Amino acid sequence: MKVAVIGGGIAGCAAAALLAEDGADVTLYERAEIAAGASGRNSGLLQHPMDEPLVPVYEASLGLYATLGHGFELPDEPAGTLVVSHDGEALAPDAAAAARFPELRPVWLEGRALTAEEPALADGLYGYRLHTGLPVPPAAATRAWAERARAAGATIATGVEATVARGEGVLAGGERRPAEAVVVAAGPWTPEALGAPGWRPVGPLWGVVAQVALARPPRHAIEQAGVKALTDPAASQDSLFSIVTVDGGSSVGSTFTTAEPDPAEVAPRLLERGARYVPALAGARIEGVRACARPRSVDGRPLLGPIGDGVHLLTGHGPWGVSLGPGSARLVADVVLGRPTDIPPELAATR
Ligand SMILES: Cc1cc2nc3c(=O)[nH]c(=O)nc-3n(C[C@H](O)[C@H](O)[C@H](O)COP(=O)(O)OP(=O)(O)OC[C@H]3O[C@@H](n4cnc5c(N)ncnc54)[C@H](O)[C@@H]3O)c2cc1C
Repeated sequence: MKVAVIGGGIAGCAAAALLAEDGADVTLYERAEIAAGASGRNSGLLQHPMDEPLVPVYEASLGLYATLGHGFELPDEPAGTLVVSHDGEALAPDAAAAARFPELRPVWLEGRALTAEEPALADGLYGYRLHTGLPVPPAAATRAWAERARAAGATIATGVEATVARGEGVLAGGERRPAEAVVVAAGPWTPEALGAPGWRPVGPLWGVVAQVALARPPRHAIEQAGVKALTDPAASQDSLFSIVTVDGGSSVGSTFTTAEPDPAEVAPRLLERGARYVPALAGARIEGVRACARPRSVDGRPLLGPIGDGVHLLTGHGPWGVSLGPGSARLVADVVLGRPTDIPPELAATR
């Protein structure tokens, strides 16, 4: 079976590998290079979702990461995630919501208990610890999936833009390339790849991350409370503090805007705000800055599966695409291969 995959991010590369390993004749088209978008520039944290229909997808992803190989290493244990706020009362409902997931072993922390758990934090904060958060280098997972796809016989065509030619395959590099199925995993640019630029169910939510090297970085991943609300299209706030440390380097984030930001202008503000949570960020030298767009769907959940004429969507993972991408790719690959798989209705592309 001939399958075209559009997009060389985490979603497209994982799908290409899983399809090729199960015998499909796969060509992946990436207009730039592998991991050119958010899949190469994210904060690198594999996170348990706070949304029930996404939990099995996350668990499937972790299982796939555990055997990914090709240079990818999954940490043995979560670093732990601390969700923090200066307002304990405002944080309490979030902590209560996290209690829906006992596997996260949520623990409320304040005062000395909080700074003893995480000495990098400022005094006067409230927080809860979740047993999740596996830090990995930002592009590592996507590159490993691309290697695995190549090893399984997939063709990876970089520098080639493709659009869907419905019912026929794709139009790539000015030529029609027939395919029985097309998987569109073009991130926030999925509408353009579908040949439907005004199609609204998915669009960009831009984020900037500043890279620093702290002498004593936090042991945990730390995030300011409220990330779920930020991915709501009606959100009024457009920035939240987070810090994730991998291999001694810390990614400090992040913004959430529909317009493309100026990273050099945003980065110093990320550190200034971050110093209210992690004082060592005050005056830390910015070693690098990166911006990229999350593929945000209308309701914050992925858009998976067939939409007709052999076209399948694999997008809309918002701020959790590295955590969920391989699990979603497995679901979509199974449908393309004609296996008896049900995409949960909450995640179906046609919902
Ligand atoms: C600042 C920031 C931090 C993040 N941190 C985390 C995190 O810690 N943990 C986590 O799980 N997630 C995180 N995310 C989210 C995650 O990065 C994304 O959800 C995920 O990378 C999306 O992957 P994707 O494959 O769907 O899309 P993308 O990575 O955007 O890949 C799509 C690819 O398609 C290509 N393309 C587009 N149009 C075409 C076309 N017509 N033809 C050919 N190629 C095309 C693009 O060049 C791109 O390479 C973060 C996101 C941001 C912005």
